Amino acid sequence: MVFSGLAEKLQETFRRLKGKGRLTEADVDEAMKEVKRALLGADVNFQVVKKFVQRVKERAIGQDILDSLTPGQQVIKIVRDELAALMGGTQSKINVSPKPPTLVMLVGLHGAGKTTSAAKLANTLRKTGRRPLLVAGDVYRPAAIKQLQVLGQQLDVPVFSMGDRQSPVDIARAAVEHAVGTGRDLVIIDTAGRLQIDQEMMDELAAIKAAVHPHEILLVVDAMTGQVAVNVAEAFNSRLGLDGVILTKLDGDARGGAALSMKAVTGCPVKFAGVGEKLDALEPFHPDRMADRILG
Ligand code: GDP
Repeated sequence: MVFSGLAEKLQETFRRLKGKGRLTEADVDEAMKEVKRALLGADVNFQVVKKFVQRVKERAIGQDILDSLTPGQQVIKIVRDELAALMGGTQSKINVSPKPPTLVMLVGLHGAGKTTSAAKLANTLRKTGRRPLLVAGDVYRPAAIKQLQVLGQQLDVPVFSMGDRQSPVDIARAAVEHAVGTGRDLVIIDTAGRLQIDQEMMDELAAIKAAVHPHEILLVVDAMTGQVAVNVAEAFNSRLGLDGVILTKLDGDARGGAALSMKAVTGCPVKFAGVGEKLDALEPFHPDRMADRILG
């Protein structure tokens, strides 16, 4: 599971800290050095780590923890709060349009888990009373259209497709009309991915955005790719303006660097986490619960 390596290292550090009756400033410094090493080892962005450790130290010293009764615990609490803050503090929800349908556009590189996440998102949001329509907008891979149709069938969620001969912009426009006509209040648009970011892909996504004005553009990225995921997010964000991120494959052995750096580096919060291949394996991303998981 994600964060297991980081959790182990931090918990070990803090066990030692808690074991000391009184803390000197040198104890805190030493612990923070270990925290820094652990975060870098988890592939967290270097600048993010530097600022993080600085903030924890400032707070720790500012609160006179050295004189308090359980100084070790106080340091741990500060680290926990700052870890949660790093990931966005509270859970970030998707933008819902006051006038239905709400349009959610999923973007990302090939293999990140976009098509699967589209279906998972339909499944998750349906449980909150939404009536989703899935839209097959990846016209370059007929297999992707088929994949979405199969997933839609499994979930009993309608899938809008116009085959692979129409432009994604036309498909997106027609899908919105179809949603209005059939009383669907949530349109989830799957788009084409590439192996790497290229101009053509970005232009096409920008054209879809300009045509239908999605209320929410979510980037789907693979947590296993660590800092690469963060760089990908920066590139998509600067061109398209992202509202958030779906971080997939958190059930794997990702070190956690993407989850911990994403918000701080790109400003885009992680809104959902993919935690398995099954269609119910998508969870709202809770920064505070993630922080608790890391600190045990
Ligand atoms: P796309 O090319 O971005 O549309 O990617 P797909 O949706 O086809 O997913 C690529 C692969 O990743 C598939 O085998 C999915 O089952 C798998 N996958 C997607 N999300 C997750 C996840 O959260 N956890 C795991 N373990 N596998 C995932």
